Amino acid sequence: MMMSMEVFFWLIIGWMGVGVGTFILLQFVSAPYGRHTRAGWGPTIPNRLGWILMELPGLVLVPTLFLLGSGGKTVVHYVIVLCYVTHYVHRALIFPFRIRTQGKRMPAVIMGSAIFFNLVNGSILGGWMGSYATYSTEWLWSPQFLLGAVLFLGGAAVNLHSDSVLLSLRKPGETGYKIPTKGLFRWLSCPNHFGEIVEWIGFGIMGWNVATFSFAVWTAANLLPRALDHHQWYRDKFPEYPKTRKAVIPFLW
Ligand code: NDP
Repeated sequence: MMMSMEVFFWLIIGWMGVGVGTFILLQFVSAPYGRHTRAGWGPTIPNRLGWILMELPGLVLVPTLFLLGSGGKTVVHYVIVLCYVTHYVHRALIFPFRIRTQGKRMPAVIMGSAIFFNLVNGSILGGWMGSYATYSTEWLWSPQFLLGAVLFLGGAAVNLHSDSVLLSLRKPGETGYKIPTKGLFRWLSCPNHFGEIVEWIGFGIMGWNVATFSFAVWTAANLLPRALDHHQWYRDKFPEYPKTRKAVIPFLW
């Protein structure tokens, strides 16, 4: 039985509210993975495996629910879902093999909660795009789609480049941390997170619906606090850390 559009809409609005609550919670607790991994979070699993397992559900669920959905589909639907799929093919199947993470582990609870959030976000996105989102082909030339596409592609480029700068800091076998200086790292501690947030805001605007905006809200809710934690961590760890560098939003924050 298919959920009515109105019920689904309000469930997604409620889920965005949970995202805002998560953002507030993450001001007080830094998510314990990567440099913030610490004891007391239960059993752990290898980092690389964790990344693959936590990102795969979204990659499978969104296109599946989209294709199974009963709504009419135009080329616009396919372009938007393809943007999502392309990002997640990289995140789930390529990025985990690029990280220099030998011997590092993450708490299984982090992987479990990420799987849960990806299942909900994936159901929302695939479900809405497959059954309720309506576009005519002309949407491809709308200001929203064009602006969103520019932000999506620009954000993705910044994210990919900045992650590559970080990944090149370690020689094979190294697992420690250095001060990054290339690209947007001249101005920001976390341009990779900035790029990812811009990318998904662009995605929200391209789709111009409650599900694509919800995805953008959740991305920002996770990554803004993480970037602030990273910024403070750099300042605490490196006395010579550049004082003018902002955390995640150029010139502001
Ligand atoms: P980080 O910036 O914490 O780390 C990225 C990689 O670079 C890790 O392998 C990390 O190693 C390494 N690294 C980071 N800083 C340094 C340094 N100073 N010196 C040497 N190596 C370094 O990114 P995240 O782990 O937070 O995220 C990874 C990617 O996933 C990003 O592109 C992010 O945008 C995306 N992401 C998206 C989310 C979403 O909600 N859409 C949620 C979370 C992440 P180590 O792991 O050992 O610290």
